[in-house]
Amino acid sequence: PNPGTFANAIDTDYSRSELRDRSVRALEKVRAQLGKTYQPLIAGEYVTTETTKNSLDPSDTSAVIGIVGQISVAQADRAVAAAKAAFPQWRRTPARERAAIIRKAGDLMEVRRAELTAWVCLEAGKILPQADAEVSEAIDFCRYYADEMERLNAGHQFDIAGETNRLHYQPCGVAAVISPWNFPIAIATGMTVAALVAGNCTLLKPAAPTAVIAAKIAEILVEAGVPPGVFQFVPGRGATAGDRLVQHPDVHLIAFTGSREVGCEIYAKAARVQPGQRHLKRVIAEMGGKNALIVDEGADLDQAVAGVVTSAFGYSGQKCSACSRAIVMAPVYDTFCERLVEATRSLAVGRADLPGTAVGPVIDAAARDRIRDYIAKGKQAATLALEMTAPAGGYYVGPTIFTDVAPDATIAQEEIFGPVLAVLRAADFDDALAIANGTDYALAGGIYSRTPDHLKRAAEELEVGNCYINRGITGAIVSRQPFGGFKMSGMGSKAGGPDYLLQFLEPRVVTENI
Ligand code: GLU
Repeated sequence: PNPGTFANAIDTDYSRSELRDRSVRALEKVRAQLGKTYQPLIAGEYVTTETTKNSLDPSDTSAVIGIVGQISVAQADRAVAAAKAAFPQWRRTPARERAAIIRKAGDLMEVRRAELTAWVCLEAGKILPQADAEVSEAIDFCRYYADEMERLNAGHQFDIAGETNRLHYQPCGVAAVISPWNFPIAIATGMTVAALVAGNCTLLKPAAPTAVIAAKIAEILVEAGVPPGVFQFVPGRGATAGDRLVQHPDVHLIAFTGSREVGCEIYAKAARVQPGQRHLKRVIAEMGGKNALIVDEGADLDQAVAGVVTSAFGYSGQKCSACSRAIVMAPVYDTFCERLVEATRSLAVGRADLPGTAVGPVIDAAARDRIRDYIAKGKQAATLALEMTAPAGGYYVGPTIFTDVAPDATIAQEEIFGPVLAVLRAADFDDALAIANGTDYALAGGIYSRTPDHLKRAAEELEVGNCYINRGITGAIVSRQPFGGFKMSGMGSKAGGPDYLLQFLEPRVVTENI
């Protein structure tokens, strides 16, 4: 593959009536399949479990999406043993063949796009166009990491007279993937196929609220030809089965995307060498953000308002890239706030599967209650500029905006992961940058400005992994905006970028005297 020639999958054009009809039919078909049972896949067999967990539709909690078997600690051990047994064969499978299997998985997702989009919409409460874009991202991850593995497989050669030096990459061994619910198909697929295509035997433990979508990924990987034991689907409780996977002496690497709290715990636990363990574990962790958009006095306010609204309230603010702080320069502060509130007020809040909805539900009751607590804290510390009403029947929180928020207020420092935006006033540009950089996080951020010096300084000085200029700060695209942060946002890994697969590989050098 030539660098720069990667072709991203194309999102569904919902302005075409036949594609809208297709998505209506897919929703009907998926609704007719709700409530089925999904079992873990261990050593090539679907297995029964002692306990199960219901996955609900967050838009309408009376609907059970599916019932998912939860593995026990003993089953986690069996799965790791099966992965270990399958490893010698998988590591010997040529990279080209592994890449072909993963590409096939991407093609199968394209064939099932409308159906997968419907599952994401219903199980994660994500509106159709965003669910569809996520399916595109999952397909991109399959194709991109397959290309990347073929590129890396060539290795490097550093020869001198009388001596050859070859560097090549080999897989690490057994990988545990612990995936989040907010991008249930894109991120679960991305981490899993990266580990697999690199030659690792991989266990996928999805977040419980979206375990049914993960079961669909499992079906697709099996159909694509990933051998038994090489990929296993291991839904289960984090505190028991997940913990066991993290601490198991035969697990080599853990790829995690999720909360800072869980990420830090995994990092600490994985660092402790267990009896019988003969390697150090590698942790790839993508955690939260407290992302800011700066709006300066020269910004195009129409663009800035639209960019802040989409970045803050898209998927109810449940993206780790979501804008949760708008930092606005004093001369335009009042005008910006007024227009922001009016633009937000026009968003329709409701069921994710209705075509007119802009903001769907949040993922579950615990999330809703946590977000409500933050709103209550905000009311103590700042001015409530907008609190939209939330419909009944699901886990809804209406978009909420606070103004006059102090940089050290809880709602300006902690990740809320909901549709809550803090607007902060900056006295000058230095102040704006200092406020933007004044949190523990460094994930996404950006600026709306037409002042060359401000643009330059923002590009250089914003402490973020992904800096966006004069656009929204969500929706990174594979191979175009490799995504990931540093500080407490993670380990600096860039999903969808040319460094990502290296984390799943061990470099090895062979020197021959000739
Ligand atoms: N990659 C996503 C974006 O750019 C965010 C991923 C996440 O929320 O974990 O919006």
